[in-house]
Amino acid sequence: MNKFEQLGLNESLLLAIKDLGFENPSEVQEKAIPLLLEKDTDIVALAQTGTGKTAAFGFPLIQKIDAENRETQALILSPTRELCLQITNEIKLYSKYIKGLHTVAVYGGASITEQAKDIRRGAQIIVATPGRMQDMINRGMVNIKNINYCVLDEADEMLNMGFYEDITSILSDTPKEKSTWLFSATMPQEVARIAKDFMRKPLEITVGHKNSGNENVSHEFYLVSARDRYAALKRLADANPDIFSVIFCRTKRDTQAVAEKLIEDGYSAAALHGDLSQAQRDGVMKSFRGRQIQMLVATDVAARGIDVDDITHVINYQLPDEVETYTHRSGRTGRAGKSGTSLVIITKSELRKISAIERIIKMKFEEKPIPSGMEICE
Ligand code: ADP
Ligand code: MG
Repeated sequence: MNKFEQLGLNESLLLAIKDLGFENPSEVQEKAIPLLLEKDTDIVALAQTGTGKTAAFGFPLIQKIDAENRETQALILSPTRELCLQITNEIKLYSKYIKGLHTVAVYGGASITEQAKDIRRGAQIIVATPGRMQDMINRGMVNIKNINYCVLDEADEMLNMGFYEDITSILSDTPKEKSTWLFSATMPQEVARIAKDFMRKPLEITVGHKNSGNENVSHEFYLVSARDRYAALKRLADANPDIFSVIFCRTKRDTQAVAEKLIEDGYSAAALHGDLSQAQRDGVMKSFRGRQIQMLVATDVAARGIDVDDITHVINYQLPDEVETYTHRSGRTGRAGKSGTSLVIITKSELRKISAIERIIKMKFEEKPIPSGMEICE
């Protein structure tokens, strides 16, 4: 009997898990799955990115859904369109041996009438961004009055993005008698408030230290003068020819500019930000996942929660304003037990931010010299 069987998962899920190649449950899965299967309870689960939260709620959710009843029974809210699609794909993989179970993704930038049509055909699980969900409720396109489960995934990110009002309004549209499962990497005040106002005596699960970093990730910084930022990035790329990286910029404009320069200079790069159409964003993500692109230059919003395996380097081309955002950025690498590097290109005036981050992630940065031209030629 493997460990997944011991958690109480049924045969069709175990088969799907086998296909996925998951051998043992991660810590958050081991803690959450039996609890959620056993009884209908509210839960707050805190675990850093990359710890397998999707399956921690996805497996028990699928087992609890009545696939023979076509009514919508569960709503999963998630911060971005990319994450919505990612979760939907995962849920579909997990439930591939369950006949009649339908999951529909609901997010902005795609046809709302098509999404409404998909729901009308019968979707037991809806995975939605708060904005589009609210829109659908306002237009009477969806009925969540009878759902039994509501999952708030990446709750801290959703609230960071200003979805408080949408979330509370959506939650008010759901029945009182349901279970709410909140998953988050961190527990800022707004998350605590949602838990207090909308949940009933939630059980709490914490994996690792709250807000702490992932031990598989090493953190480095490179001190440069502001005008050398781009040159430093190129050097780092040259020194790591097999780099597979997400490069974070602060604004859409910088994101676009850095990607364009990299492409001009012959690197394999693409931009991902909110000014692109949904089709463009999907195209970029597909190429990146398929390794046709080595360097994805992205804004925080566009890259939120994106789960792409084997990212070697997260590069902070510019540091984020919020220290917690750094945790999310660096969580893009070092996933599923693999090692990765999170590096920061930084100017002298920003140096004090490094110690603020070190306090949050409870790990030390190593200062590294920019690789010289010579080293690269060798
Ligand atoms: P989180 O939501 O906590 O950031 P994800 O649910 O996106 O994490 O999972 C991160 C990665 O780990 C995914 O690629 C997922 O397929 C993989 N994963 C999840 N659970 C397991 C497991 N038990 N064994 C191996 N890989 C897993
Ligand atoms: Mg997640």
